[in-house]
Amino acid sequence: MPAPETPILIVGGGTTGLMAATLLSQAWPDWNIVLVEKSKALGGLLRSFDYGEHGRFDCGAHNFQETLIPELDHLFLSLLPAEQWHVLAGREREIAGHYYQGKLRDNTPFVDLRGLPESLYKDCVQDFFWNLNQQNPERINQDPEGAYAFCLQQYGPVITEAVIQPILFKLFGQEIHSLHQLPLMFLHLNRVAFLDEALVADLTSSQVLRSRIAFSDQRDLPLERSAGKRNFYPKKLGMQQLIDAFERRLRHRNVTILTEATISELEQANGRISSVTINQSGQEPHQLMVEHVIWTAGIHPLAMTLGLQNPDDCFDPPLRTAFVHLQLNETLQASDLYYIYPFDPQFLTYRVVNYANFCPQARQGPTYPVTLELFLPPDTAWNQETLCQRGIEELRGMGLISESTEILFAAAEVTTEGLPMPSLKNIELTKARRERIRAKSLKNLTVLGILAEDELLFHKDVNVHAFQQLKLLIAQSLPTVLQESAPCLPIHP
Ligand SMILES: Cc1cc2nc3c(=O)[nH]c(=O)nc-3n(C[C@H](O)[C@H](O)[C@H](O)COP(=O)(O)OP(=O)(O)OC[C@H]3O[C@@H](n4cnc5c(N)ncnc54)[C@H](O)[C@@H]3O)c2cc1C
Repeated sequence: MPAPETPILIVGGGTTGLMAATLLSQAWPDWNIVLVEKSKALGGLLRSFDYGEHGRFDCGAHNFQETLIPELDHLFLSLLPAEQWHVLAGREREIAGHYYQGKLRDNTPFVDLRGLPESLYKDCVQDFFWNLNQQNPERINQDPEGAYAFCLQQYGPVITEAVIQPILFKLFGQEIHSLHQLPLMFLHLNRVAFLDEALVADLTSSQVLRSRIAFSDQRDLPLERSAGKRNFYPKKLGMQQLIDAFERRLRHRNVTILTEATISELEQANGRISSVTINQSGQEPHQLMVEHVIWTAGIHPLAMTLGLQNPDDCFDPPLRTAFVHLQLNETLQASDLYYIYPFDPQFLTYRVVNYANFCPQARQGPTYPVTLELFLPPDTAWNQETLCQRGIEELRGMGLISESTEILFAAAEVTTEGLPMPSLKNIELTKARRERIRAKSLKNLTVLGILAEDELLFHKDVNVHAFQQLKLLIAQSLPTVLQESAPCLPIHP
């Protein structure tokens, strides 16, 4: 296949962009491929923070989840030698707990109603079973994609309003009625635990109940009921090792990597992107003719660059996510939990990452790393010190550390590039932008990555979607470039 005269441009150096560059440079070793990344370093949400002698910490909870697509799994797993991977399989694949009603619960990450006051607990259980047999008429008037409609359908109104609503409000500062169902799975709110184990084992042979009731102790989950897939985390701490390996591989294949660079214009001609303007730190903006653009840097920057934002697009402000990284002199008092989801309203933390339980290096000591992921309320001022202090107090508040636990290192990072605010309004506006981008029918544009499709958020889903799209592009040899008469590949088939 002759190489086109102009490069394939990949925008965004997170794992989707890195995967795109890897697959394309493998399929077409002689082609000119340019990857443009806004930040100083590659990796997006999978990069790690490096504090030198104090070690590395991830941007919260990340690992590689097997997809059972052999080529895709190999692409990621071959980044490290096999002996450098720690394999998390079977019941150890993911062990997570939650903090609810003033108590750490290590049996399940799904909210456990057995800690509720007895009368409320009874109401929840009764309403749950009553609702199973009812088509709740109130649901018909709700947005079917909304968190409220989803929870009414799953649990009935009592659990929805008394349990789920306050948790969502504390996390997002919005009523359940205005939120999309997207965060429910992310936060383990798509099931509840409320029955003793023998009963759950019996009842959950029913699919209807299994999709609603969590197993009371994840460690006893029959293996045939688990997804059967494995997770992988490097034996040495830091997902950054994958990013570094991606980068070495791409440089070896002569892929051009531009960091601290953004695209300010996408010039169009004849229904194609003909050239782009690249702004790179310390350099004059320059134009680059392109054959094809693979955009992995988000729908909104793309819509803005194409001038497709509407003046009345009034988005709910993004969540400000903070990471508080700590080194402790002893392990968290959290049994074998990898992650803890605090659901009580006094905590800003939405997840605690306990590396020692899933990363062998972190388990060795003599210091023990922990990351807290927090959503910060809008309009509140924070600095390194107050955030670290807050994180430490929250760990104490949950009994995960004691007064005598020594904090040997603390650092905090704040980003607005975290989770998009999952309101119905934002998701609708995002969809509208995506439609406007599609309607342009730019023949040589492929959009991949987070929210490239509805509800595409989880790393594994994003990977699988991007992999399939890239394989299609490769199979068709970028039809829009080399065979103008071939049917053009839609942004999303
Ligand atoms: C707070 C949070 C927690 C998460 N937790 C989980 C989880 O527990 N499990 C899970 O499966 N998934 C989780 N995810 C989702 C997961 O992180 C993503 O699916 C994954 O990172 C997607 O990779 P990506 O390359 O598409 O996007 P990103 O990692 O976001 O990479 C996009 C890259 O594009 C760059 N960029 C942005 N704008 C421009 C521009 N204009 N020009 C050039 N470059 C640009 C960015 O700097 C970034 O490097 C979480 C996401 C967030 C935000």
